[in-house]
Amino acid sequence: MTTPPAAPFASVRYLKGVGPSRERLLGKLNVFIVEDLLFLFPRRYEDRRALSSLSSLREGETTSAVARVVAVEKRRTARKNLTLTTLLVTDGHGMARAVWFNRKGLENTFSPGSRVALYGRVELRDGVPQFAAPEFELLDEDEDDERFLSIVPVYPATAGLHQKTLRRIIRNALEQCLPGMEDFLPGSLRQRHNLPGLSASLTEIHYPTSREAWKAARRRLVFDEFFLLQTGMAIRRNRNQEGEERAPSLVRGRFVDEYLERLVPFTLTDGQRESIEEILADMEKEVPMNRLLQGDVGSGKTVVALVALLAALDGGRQGALLAPTEILARQHFLRLGPVFSELGLSCALLTGAAGSREKREIYEGLESGEIHVVVGTHALFSEGVSFAGLGLAIVDEQHRFGVLQKHSFRSKGVAPHVLVMTATPIPRTLTLTVYGDLSVSRIRDMPPGRKGVSTRVLRPGQLRQAVAFLRRRFDAGERAYWICPVIDESESDLAAATERFAQLSGEFSGYGVGLVHGRLKAEERERAMEDFRQGVTSLLVSTTVVEVGVDVPEATVVVVEDAVRFGLSQLHQLRGRVGRGDREGHCLLVCSPSSPESARRIEAFCSTRDGFAVAEADLSIRGPGEVCGVRQSGVTDFRIADLRKDFDLLQLARSEAFALVARDPSLESEPLLARRVMQVLGRSLNLVETA
Ligand code: ADP
Ligand code: MG
Repeated sequence: MTTPPAAPFASVRYLKGVGPSRERLLGKLNVFIVEDLLFLFPRRYEDRRALSSLSSLREGETTSAVARVVAVEKRRTARKNLTLTTLLVTDGHGMARAVWFNRKGLENTFSPGSRVALYGRVELRDGVPQFAAPEFELLDEDEDDERFLSIVPVYPATAGLHQKTLRRIIRNALEQCLPGMEDFLPGSLRQRHNLPGLSASLTEIHYPTSREAWKAARRRLVFDEFFLLQTGMAIRRNRNQEGEERAPSLVRGRFVDEYLERLVPFTLTDGQRESIEEILADMEKEVPMNRLLQGDVGSGKTVVALVALLAALDGGRQGALLAPTEILARQHFLRLGPVFSELGLSCALLTGAAGSREKREIYEGLESGEIHVVVGTHALFSEGVSFAGLGLAIVDEQHRFGVLQKHSFRSKGVAPHVLVMTATPIPRTLTLTVYGDLSVSRIRDMPPGRKGVSTRVLRPGQLRQAVAFLRRRFDAGERAYWICPVIDESESDLAAATERFAQLSGEFSGYGVGLVHGRLKAEERERAMEDFRQGVTSLLVSTTVVEVGVDVPEATVVVVEDAVRFGLSQLHQLRGRVGRGDREGHCLLVCSPSSPESARRIEAFCSTRDGFAVAEADLSIRGPGEVCGVRQSGVTDFRIADLRKDFDLLQLARSEAFALVARDPSLESEPLLARRVMQVLGRSLNLVETA
């Protein structure tokens, strides 16, 4: 009896050799339907083509051999109670052994005289070559040995699923799906860029025949991943622009003019000026702006945001500025509030800490239009908030929010223009993938007069040195942050900050020491921040809640404990807390790198202050998932593409995708492609509901 072949979209459960327990295991590899198996790409390959004669086996080599079984033996070893299965084989030229530990029932697989192929590492034992736990296959008398003696895929492993099983299941899926498989890439595009067909590429990537053919297949499949993503991005961008929703045309007027002519306290940098121009030009259009403003820590994004908000008010609309933490929301409010009052405009602060009466008043003010600008945290997303006419929403430090929330914000009231700001300099490859549907402005220069930050590494045993250094800085009227790593907010981790606080409070009793972390009540945290800002305390012991955006110009030192536990981009954020005024900043990393990788990262970090260079280093050492907190967006979880190597293909795929969607916005002419885009990206790109 033969099982009918399972359809590509059927659950893997219906595949021969897959029962409920294997279905569960495959789920761990993100394989749910039969077709997923085709896209479970090998991590690497075993080349078993080199076939050795048993008489010429050398110690330490990894090779294949085909031989006949002479004897099988199973016994318990004295030590550790292991069972050992030993196979003695000959190929007519020499003899060898193969041994396996604890493989129950294996001895019954072989019988004297059967032909067997082995692949594995060779050791010499008492002068006899021995394969240690080799891969093997029983061969029929007349079977050609090609299948075993080929280049064999090694798949991502998961406990309980043997490579051999996985190989068989995937081979099954390939045999069933490939014959009827249609190619979703437009034929003209394939020809133009010399991309092989889909089923040929899938066959080749699982069972390579030659280096050249494999390379071409990989190129095709990498292109696919980028192309699908960029097509999704293009569709999303189109929807934002072509949707029924129109944004108000907001033309700069007296508020912007008055601020720039009379109130701005310094000369804008070129980057600030250019960004302002780009943003104001977007806001004049009725197409909703969807722009990312990138600028390193301290590059002065707040002023740009302020001018954009004023332009919204010039256009008779309201503005909202969304910050990732209460500390930052409050800081923005304290800095921007006076400018708005000076211009006769009203500005409110809305955070989770606001009392219910206060909240209700703000809701009413926003609804009636009496409040012109609101600065707040995610409390701005809550039910009661609706605007009389929101013209511009600014999201500061976007990566803390993720894509979804940003979009739920968009859908409130009229379509606002949206500006997203990030202090994390993102490598270009990542900008194009994670923020592929946004226009980008960059502030590359720093306000003049910055002294910069020097970065040094201290061993954990050298903490006294840090303490002595801090004492000198405090005596010079400067302030410092002391960062303890709280990665998840478990009790034990929190203890690190509180313990350090107790200890340093004793050490610096004359200077004032404060503590902030995520578990404090909002008002306690705010008091600690305010004390530090005012200079009541000289040292602020903190978790990474100060990471983003906090601005205290007198702070000149940041000590980071256990620095290897942070990503480079995060360290860069922390370092950006100091050296913001006219005094030199110091960043002291306390750590003893435990691996060559962490040593390389720390070294790369110390050697540059350019945020874009730090981000590139982070990308090349740790890979895209870890950089800039973009993992949550899911769009960088490529199966085969590598952003570090495949930048050219990314650009190619992007321009083709955007051109295609411009010609055919709903992909009517390419139904297969449309289906594949939805299947792969519908959810992560938020395309589904609006489709
Ligand atoms: P970030 O881009 O990190 O948000 P901020 O907007 O907080 O940076 O600016 C950092 C500091 O630099 C602030 O104290 C701000 O007043 C100051 N600043 C901004 N632009 C300029 C400028 N063009 N010249 C001098 N100082 C500036
Ligand atoms: Mg900022």
